[in-house]
Amino acid sequence: MKGLIIEKAKTLKEKPDMTKLGFGKYFTDHMFIMDYNANEGWHNKRIVPFGPITIHPASTVLHYGAEIFEGMKAYKTNDGYSLFRPYENAKRFNNSAERMCLPQVDEELFVEAVKELINVDYSWIPTSVGSSLYIRPFMFGNDETLGVHSVKNSTFIIILSPVGSYYAEGLNPVKIIIENTDVRAVRGGTGYAKCGGNYAASMRAGERAEKKGFTQVLWLDGVERKYIEEVGAMNVMFLIGDEVVTPSLTGSVLPGITRKSCLELLKDKGYKVSERLLSVDELIDAVESGKLLEAWGTGTAAVVSPIGQLTYKDKDHIVSNNKIGSLTQELYDELTGIQWGTREDKYNWCVKVKV
Ligand SMILES: *Cc1c(COP(=O)(O)O)cnc(C)c1O
Repeated sequence: MKGLIIEKAKTLKEKPDMTKLGFGKYFTDHMFIMDYNANEGWHNKRIVPFGPITIHPASTVLHYGAEIFEGMKAYKTNDGYSLFRPYENAKRFNNSAERMCLPQVDEELFVEAVKELINVDYSWIPTSVGSSLYIRPFMFGNDETLGVHSVKNSTFIIILSPVGSYYAEGLNPVKIIIENTDVRAVRGGTGYAKCGGNYAASMRAGERAEKKGFTQVLWLDGVERKYIEEVGAMNVMFLIGDEVVTPSLTGSVLPGITRKSCLELLKDKGYKVSERLLSVDELIDAVESGKLLEAWGTGTAAVVSPIGQLTYKDKDHIVSNNKIGSLTQELYDELTGIQWGTREDKYNWCVKVKV
């Protein structure tokens, strides 16, 4: 990369037990940073030792929440590693940036920056089954003023975290409560952007659900509290009869790359796939009449997460006998197989990098 300065850490960290990684707890030795202003564009590209950064107390992000991020993974291969559809992340990052009046990052630069950083911290890619290197690019508005206007200065950073399998004990179905009060996002708002603010707004419901013994909430739309949107911070799919139904991308739903990949796989397998509005009443009717065969969430971190129980208005509904359904398992196996290189990548989704 042109103009990239690499400052290596003087001492390297001791690596954690790579079989007990969990999610997002450990960070590698280095991070990528670059700065933006209107005059210079993106500049001061650097890889520096991982550590705290200093920001001005009036920085935009601390007061007005101008922040977006991405989540992607690198998987170890025999002679390097592979990235799963990284240009999709780059594209979505720019869509999120556009919504928040943050600057665009050239897609090639985005992917190059990821590769440059991984090259430096290559030894951190875990090898044990189901583990990977989680990549977290993020950007925030960094003007040093309390004035409210679109951002002139921004900072872009990438950090890396070795993560274990979500499913150390196999794919366990989760208990979900349908959220009737809080909403995650509204049409015209920022639902389709991967921004920190959406997460901040969803924490109260998530915490309430956890206190009641649920793993996550199922979000309804913000206007009528009627249509299904997402499950926690994942997209959601349902096998109803012979039809796979997932909420359409109406603006308040995050366009997941795992969602998109699952839909492509399902269509190729010959399933009838519908992206459409799905009301909570239709869903509950489908559970009660036995037509709802399987339900699962999709996202980079867990890939596919089976739903074993849906609770609505204090009534528990068991899904797939609280076991992982065969289609859910098949999707998980197929997708992780492609990511891990154990199954044929006929879609050319993986970008292989030799190290
Ligand atoms: C990131 C995210 C997803 C999943 O997107 P993937 O690209 O599949 O990881 C779904 N919903 C929300 C709210 C998200 O932030």
